Amino acid sequence: MSWKTAIQLRDLDRQDRLELICRKCGHLRYLTAKELLAHKGAAQLYLDEIESRARCTQRGCKGLMRLSMPAQGETSGFVGGIS
Ligand SMILES: [Zn+2]
Repeated sequence: MSWKTAIQLRDLDRQDRLELICRKCGHLRYLTAKELLAHKGAAQLYLDEIESRARCTQRGCKGLMRLSMPAQGETSGFVGGIS
């Protein structure tokens, strides 16, 4: 059980970025929720399902991908809280 099994694609903001890293060759790519939602039926998918369906786009690799969400530093509420 993890956050990936609890969050559906439709729960994300359309501009949220997801990071996909190939487990085989290390190729990294970013996808926004908006891009993923362009696939038919994708809104109902949990993030772990998206991860298990994703394949590396590098020529000849087609490795499995690991999905993560990059930290969103700009929205931190702790700026300037400690003196
Ligand atoms: Zn790869």
